[in-house]
Amino acid sequence: MSRTVETDVCIIGGGPAGLILGMMLAKAGVRVSVLESQHDFHREYRGEVLQPRFLQLMEELGLRSYIESLPSSKVRSGAFYYKEKRLAEFQFDRFSEEIPYALWVPQPILLGALYEKTRELPSFDLLFQASVTGLLQEEERVCGVRVDTPDGELTVRAKVTVGADGRFSAVRRLGGFEMEYENHSGDLIWFSVPQPADWGEGLRIKLTDGHPMIILPKYPDLLQVGLAVPPGEWRAIKSRGVDAFRRELLGAHPAFQSFAEELHDFKPFVLLQAKTFFVREWARDGCLLIGDAAHCASPIGAVGVSLSAATAAAAADVIYGALQDGDVSAARLGLVQERRSGEMRSVHRIQERGAKVLFASTSFVRSLAPVIISLGGRLNLVSRLQRRILLQPEPLGVHPRFRFDA
Ligand SMILES: Cc1cc2nc3c(=O)[nH]c(=O)nc-3n(C[C@H](O)[C@H](O)[C@H](O)COP(=O)(O)OP(=O)(O)OC[C@H]3O[C@@H](n4cnc5c(N)ncnc54)[C@H](O)[C@@H]3O)c2cc1C
Repeated sequence: MSRTVETDVCIIGGGPAGLILGMMLAKAGVRVSVLESQHDFHREYRGEVLQPRFLQLMEELGLRSYIESLPSSKVRSGAFYYKEKRLAEFQFDRFSEEIPYALWVPQPILLGALYEKTRELPSFDLLFQASVTGLLQEEERVCGVRVDTPDGELTVRAKVTVGADGRFSAVRRLGGFEMEYENHSGDLIWFSVPQPADWGEGLRIKLTDGHPMIILPKYPDLLQVGLAVPPGEWRAIKSRGVDAFRRELLGAHPAFQSFAEELHDFKPFVLLQAKTFFVREWARDGCLLIGDAAHCASPIGAVGVSLSAATAAAAADVIYGALQDGDVSAARLGLVQERRSGEMRSVHRIQERGAKVLFASTSFVRSLAPVIISLGGRLNLVSRLQRRILLQPEPLGVHPRFRFDA
């Protein structure tokens, strides 16, 4: 049987963007329904490194010490290597004295903690196993969604419908939103291995004669490794068979030895397409896209969560004002894009430059990469670019009505 509920703001997707928008609006007293297709927050290999810019936003929301009290580890430094030779290094305290580290928080813990803070708010509601299948429209205005649930079809009518449903957004597709650009520079093949006792709190980006790799200390006691391959190469690697890949891993780093020796198939690997894309117009009358649905960042710099969270914060402010004024037009909701697009485009440009080195498919560029990085390190260029990616250039100016310590 079909049921209908009404709310002010219907948010599709209970990822970082959807939950942060939902919690901010509910804190300000706006009626919010978040619809999440999964049955819980559990997910592997998703946005676990929270950069200083995420903690800057949490500070503004009065939630920084709450987030930092979660089970987590700190990443304080990083280094670029060519084989065993250190080419360049950086310390997070050079980017920010106030937040001299990134935080590794497993995403289920982060999302669960955000939900805990929000579920007590009377105007907040979250429904799991609620998969959006259609948009309700009156003439050109979006006025809610049709949802598949275990109890049958649900209709949610809303003044504002927000697509926070990630890089494969159904709302984007259903709403006919168009891409302005989309670049697929390469793929990261993720896997985890035990962390050696003397690893420390640093991440490493390692160039080899084979595939470059990013190695991150993963909470609580693992290393998460991302092997960078040009687009399409993962299929070729798989067709050469697991024995050949095992040999590459055994030669790549001593910490991979036990993992590689026990490898029987490709099941332990997760592929992430390193894509940047940007939706041309994020808003239609009554409808807005935020987070990865609107502006997907590549894994370079691990900033997807932080950027999605910042857009959610801008959206909370714009939607609150739009509801107050009774104007949920595309022009009004589009103010979110106006506030956020400059920064998103700039981060994408930096990521695209990094991707040319990390995912290089020709041996010529691969052989130049160590020289480019060493030179970039000596000229302080790497640090300057990192600072622009990892830190919010200025406070987002969160209004006290959205703060959790107010
Ligand atoms: C392998 C991997 C590693 C990453 N590592 C990092 C990292 O270390 N640091 C970092 O900052 N970023 C990282 N990212 C990027 C980061 O995860 C994303 O940028 C971030 O999660 C985007 O947040 P979001 O809320 O916009 O979308 P998502 O986190 O994708 O959330 C979207 C939500 O919408 C739900 N949904 C989808 N379709 C529907 C539907 N039809 N109906 C209802 N719900 C729906 C999904 O289940 C999901 O919960 C990584 C991404 C991947 C894939």
